[in-house]
Amino acid sequence: MVSGKTAVATGSNSGIGLGIAEEFAKAGMNVVINSFSDREEDHAIAKKVSDETGAKVIYIKADMSKGDECAALIEKTKEVFGSVDILVNNAGIQYVGPVEEFPEEKWDAIIAINLSSAFHTIKAALPIMREKGWGRIINIASAHGLTASPYKSAYVAAKHGVVGLTKTIALETAEVDITCNAICPGYVMTPLVESQIPEQMKAHNMNREDVLRNVMLTRQPSREMATTEQLGGTALFLATDHAKQITGTTISVDGGWTAL
Ligand code: NAD
Repeated sequence: MVSGKTAVATGSNSGIGLGIAEEFAKAGMNVVINSFSDREEDHAIAKKVSDETGAKVIYIKADMSKGDECAALIEKTKEVFGSVDILVNNAGIQYVGPVEEFPEEKWDAIIAINLSSAFHTIKAALPIMREKGWGRIINIASAHGLTASPYKSAYVAAKHGVVGLTKTIALETAEVDITCNAICPGYVMTPLVESQIPEQMKAHNMNREDVLRNVMLTRQPSREMATTEQLGGTALFLATDHAKQITGTTISVDGGWTAL
């Protein structure tokens, strides 16, 4: 029974994180939406999800590149809702370039946001979960947590790190009702991905369907992107008691990418 539980999802004012927040709110959880900005529209996103679902949904600003703000996000969630039952580490950024030209500050930012933030939030949330004797930690890794691509050194290293962290936390919590798993999406249709389609159509002189099939999804055997709703549904399943014995593992949502 997840209704009434409190979930916090990092980097959730758009894309996959927002899809997860929406599915959690529909299931009756209290939900904290997060990003590094503090604009009216961030709070409006939380209000919209709350209005649509009837769940308590709030926005808390915290920059996941900073360890103290990661911990503060967990503390504030506990202050507002009294607990942190489900933690989704989703915040992530990308930079693409050959390693010889990869800017140091991009490497540092990707490792901080995509990997170290999960360490900091988990460190802050675990004592709260242990006190309650229940918790679910869901890390959004990637197909790039299991395989590599050229020019994505920092991203691939961070996502492999997330998978390793997931296994370690699962072992450290194995004897209590706390699980830690990683979801490994392939391509997911988010506003960011959607916005790249017109320029790809222009660059390759192709229609939308051909761009998706023959340019963007060549590594995804289904030739179809996953949706943020599907990612939300997968995370929701991991949060339930049905998934109690699923821990320390990866769940691929990649249309067969990593089966190749
Ligand atoms: P997105 O850009 O829509 O979402 C990223 C989120 O992280 C945003 O809400 C952004 O505000 C937030 N964020 C960025 N820097 C932050 C910071 N310093 N502090 C707090 N929040 C910060 O992208 P998305 O595709 O929804 O990606 C979400 C996660 O899913 C990422 O970890 C990404 O690596 C992973 N992923 C995405 C895909 C895909 O195809 N979209 C595939 C595999 C994995």
